[in-house]
Amino acid sequence: MKTNTDDRPCLICSLEDAPESARVFRDELWAAETVAGYDVPGWFFLRARRHAEQITALEPAELAAFGQRARDLSAAMREATGAPAVYLLHFGENYGHFHAVMAARGSDVPPQLRGGKLLQLAPDALDTEASLALVPVVRTAYEQLAAQPTGGAR
Ligand SMILES: [Zn+2]
Repeated sequence: MKTNTDDRPCLICSLEDAPESARVFRDELWAAETVAGYDVPGWFFLRARRHAEQITALEPAELAAFGQRARDLSAAMREATGAPAVYLLHFGENYGHFHAVMAARGSDVPPQLRGGKLLQLAPDALDTEASLALVPVVRTAYEQLAAQPTGGAR
């Protein structure tokens, strides 16, 4: 496992060992899971499978596949949760290993907690059981969308 520049173990690399129950998909280049400690229901990490720091370190094949995976996961999350919005958030400060937090923003989220303020839902909204219960629903939707010739454009 790689470490960050401050020598902390890379949380994103450790997701290679995430249990199947937390995984929406994993292919050669990309994977998506719920992550303990960040498991607000409807939040997933879409991550590069290798330790590439920042989007600028992604190889052309990873870059080409990222848009498709983000689109298919977003569509699957919307379909599975009924959320009117799915956010794609990338910061890269705590963990440089490229990943995006994809967060379904439900209609129950008050206006003052939308946009970047959605992150304020954690830690109060952390719910491992409810988060894991969504995984197979999103996985099924993702697999159906990803199997379509166009990748499930919406
Ligand atoms: Zn890493």
